[in-house]
Amino acid sequence: MSTQEAIETTEHVKCLIIGSGPAGYTAAIYAARADMHPVMYQGLQPGGQLTITTEVENFPGYPDGAQGPEMMIEFEKQAKRFGTDVRFGMVTEVDFTGPVHKVTIDGKKTITADSVIISTGASAKWLGLESEQRLNGFGVSACAVCDGFFFKGQEVAIVGGGDTAAEEASYLAKLCKKVTMLVRKDELRASKAMQHRVLKTPNIEVLFNHETKEIIGEKAVEGVRVLNNTTGKEATIPVTGFFVAIGHKPNTDIFKGWLNMDNVGYLKVNPGSTKTNIEGIFASGDAADKIYRQAVTAAGTGCMAALDAERYLADKGIH
Ligand code: NDP
Repeated sequence: MSTQEAIETTEHVKCLIIGSGPAGYTAAIYAARADMHPVMYQGLQPGGQLTITTEVENFPGYPDGAQGPEMMIEFEKQAKRFGTDVRFGMVTEVDFTGPVHKVTIDGKKTITADSVIISTGASAKWLGLESEQRLNGFGVSACAVCDGFFFKGQEVAIVGGGDTAAEEASYLAKLCKKVTMLVRKDELRASKAMQHRVLKTPNIEVLFNHETKEIIGEKAVEGVRVLNNTTGKEATIPVTGFFVAIGHKPNTDIFKGWLNMDNVGYLKVNPGSTKTNIEGIFASGDAADKIYRQAVTAAGTGCMAALDAERYLADKGIH
């Protein structure tokens, strides 16, 4: 690359926001209103996890509930209204050595930033079976809302016992003939309200103490082989769709070696703040929260990150 090209692909910003879920957009609203001229890179899934959910009933201010994707469009509009520069693009590398932080976008463009707000969220976890990987997109999915439509009138299985699995099972039950929920323990981890909903739905069958051993099918899902871990007996359930809803992993791999994180990858922040171990880098939302993981708490920590960044810039005399 010539020096001229290198110069053209470098840009300096006061406040860079990485990620576009409730945390990122809330940080953007606050940062933009504080004249920090934030630039946001949206990442692979603009809008974040709420764009692959259905109804959000627990976000205050929406008494009748709201559709996740529509809600995120509203968040984006609000962030843009105050001047946030929202861009498509993925952060592929970071260099946090200097007082000015270097971030590479899509492997080619370099941004230097006085402050960085990380709101990269979390992604769906997979079981790790060979058959799951091989049939991904051919009947295996981690998003019922995205792919449920393809299994209209068919029989499907979903693995997991948390709120996501319960919510997705309810969603699938409206479309599919039958939903088998595979839960590895003898209880559901989902909230009581979601448990009642699932257990009351006639075409959802919950199989407790069942582990998934293999997804069967050459070119498309034809069934799932399960193990009853109390009896030790295996069985095959014929299904055409297999949904995975076993939790999430924080999207923080690119920060490894720079930022302190726990063994799962959740970023560590100073208690009561969003400050990471590096000055000028702030973490918000699910990337730094393994306990609450709610849209409203993500929005709350996004707000905190913008306020922390604003104070940091003021202390450094950066205007
Ligand atoms: P959770 O971590 O809460 O639940 C994961 C589930 O998957 C558990 O039942 C767990 O089983 C099971 N599991 C994990 N690994 C495996 C495996 N290898 N094989 C089989 N089962 C496995 O994740 P969720 O995504 O459900 O929820 C995350 C957070 O988001 C929670 O705080 C939840 O309350 C929240 N949420 C809220 C919603 C709402 O309020 N509308 C909707 C969706 C999520 P085990 O219990 O045995 O560990």
